[in-house]
Amino acid sequence: MKWMEYTVELARKNQSEKGGKPFGAVIVKDGEMMAEGVNDVLETHDPTTHAELQAISRASRLLKTDDLTGCEIYASGEPCPMCLSAIYLSNISKAYFANPAEGNPLRKRQFTFTSRSACRMNKGITS
Ligand SMILES: [Zn+2]
Repeated sequence: MKWMEYTVELARKNQSEKGGKPFGAVIVKDGEMMAEGVNDVLETHDPTTHAELQAISRASRLLKTDDLTGCEIYASGEPCPMCLSAIYLSNISKAYFANPAEGNPLRKRQFTFTSRSACRMNKGITS
């Protein structure tokens, strides 16, 4: 799964090359990457600069809309409540995240958003 591999590599580089926290996220629409983000909390001292929020902000600005319906987000770790809320509010259609804690960094879980009021998580899906 190329986008998850790319996202995990982003996270690794953020830690090894920038000394940041090992988190990355990318937003994909119609098979094309719209935006990427890494965790910049240590560099900016801003606790809201999580990878997912950075990617959502960049994708929204690029697409000139706050409605990211049809987009997918890939994150290197399980989203925190702040990022999960942003994913939900931006109408991102699917969210995938790696779960290194389960022993395989490319094992993923998938959130499927069917509407603003319904969210279902499918555990243990692997590609
Ligand atoms: Zn977060």
